[in-house]
Amino acid sequence: MKSNSKRSTVLLIYTGGTIGMMQDVVSGELRPFDFKTLTQQIPELKKFDIELSSIAFAKPIDSSNMHPIVWIELAKIIKDNYSKYDGFVILHGSDTMSFTASALSFMLENLNKPVILTGSQLPIGIIRTDGKENLITAIEIAGSKLKGKPLVNEVSIYFEYKLLRGNRTFKYNSSHFDAFKSPNYPALAEAGVNIQYNKSALLKPGTKALKVHTHMDNDIAVLKLFPGISKKITSAIINTPGIKAIILETFGAGNTTTQEWFAAELKKAIAKGIIILNITQCLEGRVIQGMYETSSHLKKMGVVGGADMTFESAITKLMFLLGQKLSSTQIKKQLLANLRGELTL
Ligand code: ASP
Repeated sequence: MKSNSKRSTVLLIYTGGTIGMMQDVVSGELRPFDFKTLTQQIPELKKFDIELSSIAFAKPIDSSNMHPIVWIELAKIIKDNYSKYDGFVILHGSDTMSFTASALSFMLENLNKPVILTGSQLPIGIIRTDGKENLITAIEIAGSKLKGKPLVNEVSIYFEYKLLRGNRTFKYNSSHFDAFKSPNYPALAEAGVNIQYNKSALLKPGTKALKVHTHMDNDIAVLKLFPGISKKITSAIINTPGIKAIILETFGAGNTTTQEWFAAELKKAIAKGIIILNITQCLEGRVIQGMYETSSHLKKMGVVGGADMTFESAITKLMFLLGQKLSSTQIKKQLLANLRGELTL
């Protein structure tokens, strides 16, 4: 491709997932296609007024095998190429896309360029694929500028005509093209005949230089409550050797059983220095500790209220904060703060 300084430059990073698959004509099996042949699959890409470059993982992965080690690799790729490109598009399986988007949002501090994750429910090589539209529009958004400045300055997910803040999303549908939801935050943009940006919802660009964090600590346990949860199970989770934090998935606005043994187990963990973060099992709404008697005890003992954070955001925010070796007081403070637009204060 000819180089022209006015053209936007976008780096495509292919990690794997359904989008990069083709159906074997003989066996019918889905397997990754050679990413170098992408423009053969999507000839429209050649018509773009955007200079595209790509990096493909040597071994594409199904995103169910995603791991913080891969997030670190992705963060480093963005760091190394940050000054060379106007925007980044990450092709990723949809299963754990919200986790990767949330993790990268915390790892890439002071991001002033778009990092857009996209994928598809049907492989590129299938006629009815949703992958072509997702990829083409994600690239267009990643290369979009207003007065020479990127329109989007954050990690987001583009899927089925919507651009959503990555750390507000979760995958809610495994069979519809419209697979992601962001119930507690509006869409950043919607693609119809034109791409309509929701300017007031977008994060404002900052003036500080990009800071890339590459330490993630996954010593975290998750305790999802259900009526009748036993002391045996609760205690086994809370007393998992070596854990530094527990995500408590609670009922409604952050409520739990008020049985004494339950409070006693939590108090023991807090006394040991374990951080407990309360998020709700509800997909919409928020934790308000102290609203009911069934959550007041949590507030008193020092459980941190997770506001309207998704599970994906809560777990990756904790990994990020634990990775920075902060004191437990500092971590609790940061959990309550809105670091990357992940929670509503
Ligand atoms: N299992 C696939 C993955 O997440 C599904 C997809 O790509 O949508 O990698």
